[in-house]
Amino acid sequence: MKLESFVLGAWRSGASEGVALRDATSGELIAHATTDGFDMAAILEHARTVGGPALRETSFHERAALLRALGKRLLESKEDFYALSHRTGATRADSWIDIDGGIGTMLAFASKGARELPDGRVYLDGGVEALSKGGSFVGRHVCVSRAGAAVQINAFNFPVWGMFEKLAPAILAGMPVIVKPATATAYLTERVVRRIVELAILPPGTLQMIAGGVGDLFDHLGSQDVVSFTGSASTAVKLRTHPIVTRRSVRFIAETDSLNSSILGPDAGPGTAEFELYADEVVREMTVKAGQKCTAIRKAIVPATMLEAATAAIAERLAAVRVGDPRAPDTRMGPLASRDQRHEVLHRLEELRGESDLIHGDPHDPRLREANARGGGFLAPLLLRCRDAASASAVHSVEAFGPVATLLAYRDLDEAIELARRGDGSLAGSLFTADEKVAAHVAIGLAPFHGRLLVVNRHCAAESTGHGAPLAPLVHGGPGRAGGGEEMGGIRGVLHYMQRTALQGSPAMLAAIGGRWIRGATERDPGRHPFRKPFDELAIGDTFRSNARQITVADIEAFAALTGDNFYAHMSETEAARNPLFGSRVAHGYYLISAAAGLFVDPDYGPVLGNYGLDELRFVKPAKPGDWIKVRLTCKEKSLRADKGWGEVRWDALITNQDGETVASYDVLTMVSVHAVPDAAR
Ligand code: NAP
Repeated sequence: MKLESFVLGAWRSGASEGVALRDATSGELIAHATTDGFDMAAILEHARTVGGPALRETSFHERAALLRALGKRLLESKEDFYALSHRTGATRADSWIDIDGGIGTMLAFASKGARELPDGRVYLDGGVEALSKGGSFVGRHVCVSRAGAAVQINAFNFPVWGMFEKLAPAILAGMPVIVKPATATAYLTERVVRRIVELAILPPGTLQMIAGGVGDLFDHLGSQDVVSFTGSASTAVKLRTHPIVTRRSVRFIAETDSLNSSILGPDAGPGTAEFELYADEVVREMTVKAGQKCTAIRKAIVPATMLEAATAAIAERLAAVRVGDPRAPDTRMGPLASRDQRHEVLHRLEELRGESDLIHGDPHDPRLREANARGGGFLAPLLLRCRDAASASAVHSVEAFGPVATLLAYRDLDEAIELARRGDGSLAGSLFTADEKVAAHVAIGLAPFHGRLLVVNRHCAAESTGHGAPLAPLVHGGPGRAGGGEEMGGIRGVLHYMQRTALQGSPAMLAAIGGRWIRGATERDPGRHPFRKPFDELAIGDTFRSNARQITVADIEAFAALTGDNFYAHMSETEAARNPLFGSRVAHGYYLISAAAGLFVDPDYGPVLGNYGLDELRFVKPAKPGDWIKVRLTCKEKSLRADKGWGEVRWDALITNQDGETVASYDVLTMVSVHAVPDAAR
């Protein structure tokens, strides 16, 4: 059977016989993969001219809805994906990380997109910058979809998660995707893409998938394209330095291999909860996905005084790990993804053994010989111990991408930090300690060299997601050897597929481009109180100006009595006079915003359903008894919740005094019905 690719709107197979893809357990042939003869220039152009424009017509919220619908429907097919996933060597637990983890990541992006991005196509990055004295010339940053294709090249170890963690932010950003899974496990990605294509949720041209090599695709990359690569550091260097990538400044994101460390704190001796948790975690990281995880712990750095105890605790746990057929329910660890991968790991093991002793596990375990003779890629977990951590080099540079970890002993915390930093840039690091001072010292020492740090103590362990798990809301990536890239991290990951542009002009122009009113832009007369307008009729810039209200001692005291806030600056003339900020009695800030609400609300039943918060509240100038305040309220931004029958409306509120000075400034957040008079039964 030939594995097909989905390109140019159809399933196609390449011209030559291609590479044989085999079952990790039995060596049985699954399919051949080839992309020979594919017109890579046309594939890129299809993404740019068919998928890109269709996606860019939609808003962030519409794209988020596509991802949500897709994720929900794919979950219905997951048992089919699980069955095939076993063929990669993954146990059910491993497959859960890849399949449920991948779809879950897409759903997490869908919900972040709906909650944290506007219902438009322009993302505002930061606030308005005042560029002129008079305020007629301002600046701000906007991010918009890039006009090219996102080429996403993935490693073999997570054929589903690897696709979704890249695809979801790109689609949300409005960029069409060309996925290139690692060929060895591309059959699982192909199965998922087949289902995506059947579901026909994504607009045509949005997703293409290449099962096999990229051919001359890199020669046709353009300046608007983005390449996001996951794999080995050596391939990353080759692709990053491709002449077209450098000449056309093609945006290039790399997540590569990494020597990740976990440090056992000096306080976490045998008998403590942290010690036991540490031993559990090292073993989990060695055995999940048979250690084929870019984030897995490769260096277990422990106090010299605890080396023997840590060795014993880890070895005891490893001895209980059952290696075998990934389909069997009692199997804890399956084979590596292929026989070739096993050979590769054994080769790396020899390099490591030059300076470390193998203290647990047999690379040629007789119990696995028969399965390997049939074509499997089985390898028992192997624990090494470095003979002299300070002078060793291979342990800091050689990644055995399998169930292999090395123990290193440290004398003091600074040496532990130094040993972790010698990985020259890692994806993830962890520390097991109950001591907050140790945590602060180590975290600051490790952070410049790590993309993510996990500190485990007994209090968070039960709910901790673990050393090796990248999470959609947090960044994944790392400096130096880890590739220097960054993915995910919530909306940060979406911005990798967008262009940030500094806009300059008048407030009205910037408001029109960004879809958000800014001070100095046109104020519109809505013709009636804006709270009487349903969502669709409200216009950005609709403004209400209130009458003035005087601040009185009686009102301040009534507010204090009502709330119990008797702070001296509001209640005592003599104490307030001693306060260097006020000099005399002032109104409560919360009274001012409450009084302002009294000035701007329209009380009758109508389209405004509720107030769900305030943003960016600042009390700028104190208001004192005798002062007069009034408020200006302007419709600043609208975001429709299409499925809910209402939209979020952000209002710019400005409280000023009798001299026109700003007393308080904030955004009021409301939910406004699409109906003039909402019907409870609707
Ligand atoms: P790899 O050999 O570097 O391959 C990675 C991807 O690059 C595959 O899709 C591969 O395609 C493709 N590729 C290789 N040469 C290419 C070329 N000349 N042009 C275009 N594409 C090319 O790495 P791997 O063996 O699949 O993965 C294991 C490595 O990935 C480990 O070192 C691991 O640490 C790292 N990894 C890192 C992360 C992370 O997030 N940082 C995650 C997972 C894995 P073919 O399969 O068709 O060759």
